[in-house]
Amino acid sequence: MTEPERIVIVGSGLAGASAAAGLREGGYSGAVKIIGQESHRPYELPALSKDLLLGDAEEPNWVHEAGYYGEHDIELIGSTAITQLHLGNRVLVDENGGEHSYDRLLLATGSQPRTLPVPGGALPGLHLLRTLDDSRELRATLTEGARVVVIGAGWIGCEVASAARKHGAEVTVVEPLSLPLHRVLGDTIAGVFRDLHAEHGVTWRLGTGVTELIAGESGEVGGVRLADGSTLDADVVVVAVGASPRTALARQAGLELSEETGGGVDTDATLRSSAPDVFAAGDIAAHFHPRYGRRVRVEHWSNAKDQGTHVAANLLGAHENYTASPYFFTDQYDLGMEYRGLADPFTDELVVRGDLGAREFTAFWLHDGAVAAAMNVNMWDDGDALQALVDNAKQVSADDLRTADLGSLV
Ligand SMILES: Cc1cc2nc3c(=O)[nH]c(=O)nc-3n(C[C@H](O)[C@H](O)[C@H](O)COP(=O)(O)OP(=O)(O)OC[C@H]3O[C@@H](n4cnc5c(N)ncnc54)[C@H](O)[C@@H]3O)c2cc1C
Repeated sequence: MTEPERIVIVGSGLAGASAAAGLREGGYSGAVKIIGQESHRPYELPALSKDLLLGDAEEPNWVHEAGYYGEHDIELIGSTAITQLHLGNRVLVDENGGEHSYDRLLLATGSQPRTLPVPGGALPGLHLLRTLDDSRELRATLTEGARVVVIGAGWIGCEVASAARKHGAEVTVVEPLSLPLHRVLGDTIAGVFRDLHAEHGVTWRLGTGVTELIAGESGEVGGVRLADGSTLDADVVVVAVGASPRTALARQAGLELSEETGGGVDTDATLRSSAPDVFAAGDIAAHFHPRYGRRVRVEHWSNAKDQGTHVAANLLGAHENYTASPYFFTDQYDLGMEYRGLADPFTDELVVRGDLGAREFTAFWLHDGAVAAAMNVNMWDDGDALQALVDNAKQVSADDLRTADLGSLV
């Protein structure tokens, strides 16, 4: 099979940069070009709501050293958005009218944070958190006594609340659901996170949405009106209501999108899109997962890194399925957590091993008696066993999960 001469990657995030590295590590000697809107070279996002916001680091985790791209003959074009994709003649057009031809294309355009569709939803001064610049701007506002309102109690909202409390800010988190992280964790485990934040001084406004963002005297956002009619004055307002895949380019080009996963780019199990020369990886990919028998779109760090690396061989003509289980992690105050797998906490059976109250436990979700997901909180010794239980969808009794040596169950 002849190798493609030119591979172009749109998006200079973790998936895009990992794919470029994978191409070179796989021995590919043709042209590799990454085109991204970011002005910074590729970096990882998790520290933006953790170490950087906490003040424990000044720099993000760069995906590669500054010299890496030049040394590996990878052309990295920053501060440039691609606005058109022409599948017929395999050409991309950037915002300046520049054209970029490809033989194989990887779309790794990631996600964009959602905004609030309410009056005042675009007021100046509102904070979203997706980029290094967003994180640095937000960090500068998190000071002793600052009144911080976080809208949305998902992972990023919870991590922002944790960082803001560390800096002595007065933090209120507003969430329309009855518990933080409720959709992913269900009642019992989400309750652990509610209590964690409450113990660290966060004020919860659960079960109520935001109906308006209110301008202060400066014209910048200065408050939030809630669905129950009350208002919160704020020095800092952070909108953390989730992200959506950046599919404008894919949509314009006519690639098939997947409504079932919130609009990602449809790919087969090898990450190939509906156009044979175009692949997708990372947050944007609605990938057909052979084990789950359906499309899965995962907005997490390991998925971006691993799919990026994996897709490199397929860009060169291999047909390898991507089969990894989803994995993610969070750090909030003194709680560290890893979650492996994919479960529905409202229909799967929850089994807890360890001590919920002490926040040292592993939660399992069983689907028809098989391990669908495992989440270890402040317990770090069983990672390999948990991975194997999830990867193999192991049939295990709830009693064994609670008490047996986990390694013996694999
Ligand atoms: C604050 C924060 C904290 C997180 N923490 C965790 C965590 O603790 N654990 C975890 O597992 N996951 C975490 N995640 C999620 C994880 O980081 C992402 O899933 C992952 O980085 C996605 O990588 P990606 O390469 O697919 O997309 P992105 O990192 O979004 O990169 C896509 C890039 O494409 C560019 N782009 C988009 N459209 C165009 C275009 N038309 N032209 C040119 N460039 C374009 C964008 O500017 C962007 O730079 C976090 C995310 C955020 C925002």
